[in-house]
Amino acid sequence: MENIRNFCIIAHIDHGKSTLADRMLEYTKTIKITENQMLDDMDLERERGITIKSHAIQMEYSLDGKKYILNLIDTPGHVDFSYEVSRSIAACEGALLVVDATQGVQAQTISNLYMAIDHDLEIIPVINKIDMPNAMPEEVEDEILDLIGCDPEDIIRASGKTGEGVPDILKAVVERIPAPKGDPEKPLQMLIFDSIFNSFRGIIVLGKVVNGVVRQGDEVKFVQTGMEYTADEVGVLKMDLEPRKTLSTGEVGYIISGIKNATEVKVGDTITHVDQPCDKAIEGFQEVKPMVFAGVYPIDPTEYENLRSSLEKLQLNDASLTFMPESSQALGFGFRCGFLGLLHMEIVQERLDREFNMEVITTVPNVSYLVYTKQGEELEVHNPSGLPDPTEIDHIDEPYIKASIITSADYIGPIIKLCLDKRGELLDQQYISGNRVELHFMLPLGEIVIDFYDKLKSISKGYASFDYHIDSYRPSKLIKLDILLNGEPVDALSTLTHQDNAVTLGRNMCEKLKELIPRQQFDIAIQAAIGAKIVARETVKQVRKDVLAKCYGGDVSRKRKLLEKQKKGKKRMKQIGNVQVPQKAFLAVLKLD
Ligand code: GDP
Ligand code: MG
Repeated sequence: MENIRNFCIIAHIDHGKSTLADRMLEYTKTIKITENQMLDDMDLERERGITIKSHAIQMEYSLDGKKYILNLIDTPGHVDFSYEVSRSIAACEGALLVVDATQGVQAQTISNLYMAIDHDLEIIPVINKIDMPNAMPEEVEDEILDLIGCDPEDIIRASGKTGEGVPDILKAVVERIPAPKGDPEKPLQMLIFDSIFNSFRGIIVLGKVVNGVVRQGDEVKFVQTGMEYTADEVGVLKMDLEPRKTLSTGEVGYIISGIKNATEVKVGDTITHVDQPCDKAIEGFQEVKPMVFAGVYPIDPTEYENLRSSLEKLQLNDASLTFMPESSQALGFGFRCGFLGLLHMEIVQERLDREFNMEVITTVPNVSYLVYTKQGEELEVHNPSGLPDPTEIDHIDEPYIKASIITSADYIGPIIKLCLDKRGELLDQQYISGNRVELHFMLPLGEIVIDFYDKLKSISKGYASFDYHIDSYRPSKLIKLDILLNGEPVDALSTLTHQDNAVTLGRNMCEKLKELIPRQQFDIAIQAAIGAKIVARETVKQVRKDVLAKCYGGDVSRKRKLLEKQKKGKKRMKQIGNVQVPQKAFLAVLKLD
């Protein structure tokens, strides 16, 4: 136990976490990067290694004639997965804080750093990319000193590109990070911080043994779920799985026990022995709850069962995805999916498309609301069309986030305006160094899921960084805005919005839909309504003449091309009543400016 060091790397995306990790693996000869081996990258062995590497990997390192085991545990970088980040951090005794010398400290870095400090981790600050011509190591050093108040000598300057500073980092890991504590004589407690899905072996559970010892063949129990399994294989993670007879206190490793479904494995859960269980689970377990919801519908209604099986397969290795059947008058049968956040939603959409070739329509994302009825009931509503009749609603609470934005001072004005427009409240602002400022806001999550990221990026020319966590549910004056096409309400286009913004939103929606819905053989009325009251209206005029009339002469091939093009366009159309509505229209609310 004395010779073990467990650590993670905290870094903003692109600040060089992976590159530095590779350099450490290379330096410790865990992997050999030679020209030839790089070319072998494609083969399966290596691919498997890479999956493991991106979760946790063990290195051997010698200092002053003593051998050490270093376990590098990966932390997911994005706020959507912040609970998983905190579990990875809880498995470590130290963290490298890596900051890009050309960029400085970013919002997500700070929130992960605070998490690490909360868990009493030893922090080793590293300024990376010092080889770059536009590196500003002095400025970044000031930012780091402000942030953690360390000694300037404690900050290591490094380059993942040239390898400079990498030996110093490894030395600091051994010298500064304490060995894990714990008692091998106590009943087993193993903290689950991650899991890997493997189609041959099932779920590989990754964890750190906090107390006790686990042996191959042991009967083990997952405390939160109460499920019992046999530990068919235990071992450590190098470039591949390396089976061992035992994993002892302080060690990081894996257990395989034939689990097929990721939903049985909860990050943060404790594994113990069936016959000699620990008296309590490791603290801090928290079930991750989806916060963002959207309807997912097959474009082709006959694909409904395929969509279900695709979602089931995705769930095998993504325990945080939830879905339940839902039907929409407009879109037919589909599923209401729950995601941890926006990025998670994008990942799932992307995977449905790439891995399962599923053509789907996704509706506008919304958050989870708490609706209190006049009868005193409390309902959790994930879909605007699931809202009870307005006359029965006493009030609605919506989730608020506490957001942190780091920006150069030049953009403070426009950023504050954006957040106020999104019903935000500025809590405070602090200069972190020279020209850079950190702003804190309370904001309704529902406003963030619409188009906040894009706007923040465009007004700050890509420089502002953003991070958030859920703070509380608060009462809001929310009302439902409906959209009608030729008098028919289209449930998939309904949104919940603040009453002060509803009329403007209705007007903007109608204008946008007018742009998006193509002309057809008849006039199409687009209306926005609050309850029975129409608040906006636009009309898509009927087509005046046949499109084909534009093709002069007898140019057959051209005519055919045009027809094919129309057919393709139609595929992404949904028939609603007698109106053809393109897929884009269902996301119209995201495209308003
Ligand atoms: P991550 O997102 O934190 O894992 O960042 P990566 O390790 O993927 O690095 C992001 C980009 O920065 C890549 O294009 C790297 O090649 C580059 N990079 C990483 N470290 C350095 C460095 O020390 N110097 C230079 N010049 N480029 C670097
Ligand atoms: Mg990376």
